[in-house]
Amino acid sequence: MELTPLPASFTVAPWRLSGVVYGALVNHTAQLAALGDAVHAAPYKAPPAHAVLQVRPRNTLCGPGSAVAVPADPGVVDVGVSLGIVIGRTACRVAAEDAPGVVAGYLVAAELGLPTESHYRPAVRLKARDGFTVLGPVVPAAEVDDPDQLATWVQVDGEARHQGSTAGRVRGVAELIAAVTEFMTLQPGDVLLLGADSPAPRAAAGTAVTLGIADLGSLSFSLVAEAVAAPALADPSPIGDGTQLAPRGAVARVAHAGAVHTAWPHPQGVQLADGRVLREDEVQWLPPFEVGTILALGLNYADHVKELSKELTVTAKDEPLVFLKGPGALVGHRGLTRRPAGVAFMHYECELAVVIGKAARHVAAKDAMAHVAGYTVCNDYAIRDYLENWYRPNLRVKNRDGATALGPWFVPAADVPNPHALTLRTLVNGQVTQQGSTANMVNDIPALIEYLSEFMTLQAGDVILTGTPEGVVNVNEGDEVVCEIAGIGRLVNTIVGDAAFSVIPA
Ligand code: CA
Repeated sequence: MELTPLPASFTVAPWRLSGVVYGALVNHTAQLAALGDAVHAAPYKAPPAHAVLQVRPRNTLCGPGSAVAVPADPGVVDVGVSLGIVIGRTACRVAAEDAPGVVAGYLVAAELGLPTESHYRPAVRLKARDGFTVLGPVVPAAEVDDPDQLATWVQVDGEARHQGSTAGRVRGVAELIAAVTEFMTLQPGDVLLLGADSPAPRAAAGTAVTLGIADLGSLSFSLVAEAVAAPALADPSPIGDGTQLAPRGAVARVAHAGAVHTAWPHPQGVQLADGRVLREDEVQWLPPFEVGTILALGLNYADHVKELSKELTVTAKDEPLVFLKGPGALVGHRGLTRRPAGVAFMHYECELAVVIGKAARHVAAKDAMAHVAGYTVCNDYAIRDYLENWYRPNLRVKNRDGATALGPWFVPAADVPNPHALTLRTLVNGQVTQQGSTANMVNDIPALIEYLSEFMTLQAGDVILTGTPEGVVNVNEGDEVVCEIAGIGRLVNTIVGDAAFSVIPA
């Protein structure tokens, strides 16, 4: 097959690809149809009502020319060719007709995944592997006539294996941007993947893949056996460098008088590096460290599983239920979280957040704690009205702007002798509504690091939200929600209504 000629003015965008990559799943009409009655079976029970979205975290990102490692079991990957929509302007609650105005350009992306029957909510292990998102250079939007009508193709070792199109999507480019920005803000440099044609061609370790999209060009990479060689991943342009963490003792990041400061606990509030002592309410609290990939556990406390539904069972023998969040979900101590009008059930989740301090890949449980830099408190809100299944909640439930509070302090691991014996509790307007112990995690911290690092490189600044015990109740506009973990911190959050976010009632 002839390679698609590049447009005359093809350029790499002048900005760095600096953002987060989000992808749509089952966005191909034919794929959804092919699932047939399976979408009505447990645990899903109904076809997806809202866009099904995933985060493709930073360890997965690489550029053309990369050698991507394929694990021996199963030794093959599905190679999806996907249109990448590069966001050029901050996009919050953008209507479909206005969506073209926030697009800077488009790129060719390869979405790799280990084969699965569960296309609806695949395990993070299948897709969040190192190098499994290959991104080509950005082509300016002005060079692309109609992003919803572009031919796509895939070659493996020079042989044509797939021909498709960006057409036939459940949500096209504009509708997808509208659906995503309804609950989360996209930033310049973020990439939204439209989702691959289905079925995607399958390729084995030891092959060379080239794929392309008309008007956007092509990209090539090789697939290598995971055991054979350390993969050579070409960096598409990094999201951040290795985060330096943790001076000794609890530490926070706060904004005050026009600058961001490191701050330490003080009997009267906080102390800045320059010596100033301020009350807790005189500073704006930020998440207490530069946050990388956010990994969150579903159903990691047995008592909480029982509380949710009698139908559910989870044990340490089951694969941990992991989902990913983007950075826009975060808000610091004393932050405000929005409760949309008309929802029936919004609840907090008090969780121990484990901060990775040094890169971890193939780390055994017995060695895992050496990779933990420290801890903080998380309040991982959920809006249950939008929950379409328990097992892998959608971003609309769990990745809403400002609905994941983190802080106030980063506490170094050395100051926490036993992170598996900490009392957690939540107070709503001063009343204790949730209480538990980190001793009751289904998968403890070493087990989680062993599980995650088996398929992905954990990096300094990545954070694992380890799940919540029983006792989640509905919270309303005006409620003050305090999540406490003994020895780690006391995280305060206030629920506000739509008006605080300039949302005009429909
Ligand atoms: Ca949670």
